[in-house]
Amino acid sequence: MLAADFTRLGEQILDAQDAGADLIHFDVMDGRFVPNLTMGPHVLEAIRRSTTLPIDVHLMMIEPEHMLSAFAQAGATRINVHWEACPNLHRTLQAIKALGCKTGVAINPHTPASFLSEILHMLDAVLVMTVNPGFGGQTFLPETLPKIRALRQMIGEREIDIVVDGGINTKTMEQVIEAGANVLIVGTALFTEKMSVRDAMSTLRQAASSTVRKEKPV
Ligand code: ZN
Repeated sequence: MLAADFTRLGEQILDAQDAGADLIHFDVMDGRFVPNLTMGPHVLEAIRRSTTLPIDVHLMMIEPEHMLSAFAQAGATRINVHWEACPNLHRTLQAIKALGCKTGVAINPHTPASFLSEILHMLDAVLVMTVNPGFGGQTFLPETLPKIRALRQMIGEREIDIVVDGGINTKTMEQVIEAGANVLIVGTALFTEKMSVRDAMSTLRQAASSTVRKEKPV
């Protein structure tokens, strides 16, 4: 949602839903963990009322454990906390599960995949930051690709999503899909002045499906 027009957020969410989005990604920034501020549970609650899609909440904040129940009550489907912000990550994930939400851990570009090895069994998703968190519209960091491959190996057949977040567009999606990502977060590539949300989504879907076809020839 970060790239949406906030003066008409409800409409933009409906545009994304009608265009075929699978989920809404909700970026929370606290001005401490990252140098920016965005939205809180109050806005999430409004979004929850305007869509039936799952809402993927990405908490870019220190001490997220204090806010988990507020985001769960506001309608989060999955809550992603940052590995770098959670000294008691196991306990934090237990708390997310206890609130009835799916769990995700986000890792910054400098954080290795291997740091998740002892916690994978508690996860529904790993969110790989493919830019440094804090702002929308940044350029994809290709050095995150080996990490996506490593995660795909670690996860194997388990049902854990590999979510990529940052700089994803028709050009970069091929690389992340080939590396093993299966959920792609798009911001400025979806909400763009160049075309409607519907057209942007169909362009993105076409690029994704041609990559998948290339990877697995029938
Ligand atoms: Zn995000």
